[in-house]
Amino acid sequence: MNRPLPKRLLPTLLLAVVAALLLGQSMNPNQATLRTPAGDKTVTIARQGNQTFFSAEEVVTALGGTVTKDTNGWKVTINNVTAAFGTDSRFAVVREDLIEMPLAPLSVDGHPFVAWQFFNGFLSRASDQEAAFDPVNRVLSVRVLQRSVVNVQFSVANVQGISKIVLTLSGLVDYAIVKEASAYTVHFKTPVKPPFGEQTFDDPYVAKAAFTGNDLRILLTSPDVVGDAYRLDNPFRIVLDLRKGAAPAPGVVPPTVVTRPVEQPGIHTIVIDPGHGGTQVGAIGPAGLMEKDATMALCRKLADALSAKLHARVILTRTDDSLVSLDQRTAIANQYKADLFLSVHMNAAVVKGAKGSETYFLSLEASDELAKRAADVENAAPKAAGASGGANEGDLKLILWDLAQQSYLNESSRFAQDVQEEMNRISGITNRGVKQAPFKVLVGATMPAALVEVAFITNPDEEARIKSEDFQNTVVDALTTAVQRYKTDYETRIGVIQPVPPQPTALPATGTSAPAKTPAAPTTTAPATTITTTRTKP
Ligand SMILES: [Zn+2]
Repeated sequence: MNRPLPKRLLPTLLLAVVAALLLGQSMNPNQATLRTPAGDKTVTIARQGNQTFFSAEEVVTALGGTVTKDTNGWKVTINNVTAAFGTDSRFAVVREDLIEMPLAPLSVDGHPFVAWQFFNGFLSRASDQEAAFDPVNRVLSVRVLQRSVVNVQFSVANVQGISKIVLTLSGLVDYAIVKEASAYTVHFKTPVKPPFGEQTFDDPYVAKAAFTGNDLRILLTSPDVVGDAYRLDNPFRIVLDLRKGAAPAPGVVPPTVVTRPVEQPGIHTIVIDPGHGGTQVGAIGPAGLMEKDATMALCRKLADALSAKLHARVILTRTDDSLVSLDQRTAIANQYKADLFLSVHMNAAVVKGAKGSETYFLSLEASDELAKRAADVENAAPKAAGASGGANEGDLKLILWDLAQQSYLNESSRFAQDVQEEMNRISGITNRGVKQAPFKVLVGATMPAALVEVAFITNPDEEARIKSEDFQNTVVDALTTAVQRYKTDYETRIGVIQPVPPQPTALPATGTSAPAKTPAAPTTTAPATTITTTRTKP
């Protein structure tokens, strides 16, 4: 970064240095101060637009860690915790968690430079430290994480056969809920101040609640009480709805996560997610077609087709040009206990000739660089209006329901495969295949979920097709067939419908003992109030 300067420039430079020192600035525009409890250190920075990037090697080495290069990018390790990142994604991966950066890291002369948010996200996970950047004085401060204690309020009420436990928290906390026989444990990952040590309740399902350290143990009145957990924002609340479920079969190990109430197995409720909306317009075609409008037009038709042909209950995550956050979209699906989730998008490419469709399912690691790039583009959505604004960007981390997601990856992969195969049948669409990528909108979905990029809106030919009624109808037919195929395949596999070889259509079986659904984990935020439901026509 530092090239020798001609000698005649030195006096001028010296003056500048003095002036900079007087102003309290660091002297070199390519340098910043790293401030740790051990003292100050000068580190190299790079700039792109308004963004400051720090030399990952210099900062991490100063903090006692290591940086290594691999084929996909770099790996940073501190205290045996490793984060991986590359120049093609603004997400770094730490264990099963993602660190979000405002811009993807840079490679400067082969050395990695990252936004300060990387250090904050990584240090909080690797060393209980946090980082903050003061851009005026160009000081990157690293200090011990100040965990403020969060107050918890506890309430329980039984209304219409459901006991609702509401934990109201004074701040955001990470937590995990574990189901045992006759008990739920809420494990808070940050210190909490409990409202009481132990309390008994005169409630049909809740016998006792006890706080021990950062754990809240809720004792149930019987082992057949089942629950649904979800979170609400403003103020932050964790809600556990408890009700009487089916008695567990003898000898069956109880699931370790919150179980969904016993429902009719099969694919009955489908959530269709028209990508983008409101100020988040998505990609824009050369003739001006906006992705948010293209997805809305297509999804309206798709919802009609699915409810008419599959007699499914179809829910759209938005029905107008409104801004719905990515978290809310899966939260809606979870809230409606959807059996299937399909997010619909139009692709964008820098390359002019790119065409065809692509289908994705969730993974924390993209299957290739282009998949990663697609995820970056789609993930770049702002929080919906009403969220607490840009002040708490550090809280924008993804909440991963790892257990829940893992159990649906196989089904999501099958569903994505069906979608891609049907899209490939549409003539003229190149097979771009099924891919895995860390799409934020698929994170937190507690059902099989996929994302389809129907066509390249940035390609003038495809943009024109997307606008045409004929092409829209063809895509709707293809997607409806794909959902039908997946539904039949899934319901056959779980024994809800019996395959009838000589006949083209399968008949619903009566009296079969279908296995219960895969257990689901707690859902995320509350649904938007603007959603509407398209119910099955009688
Ligand atoms: Zn999109």
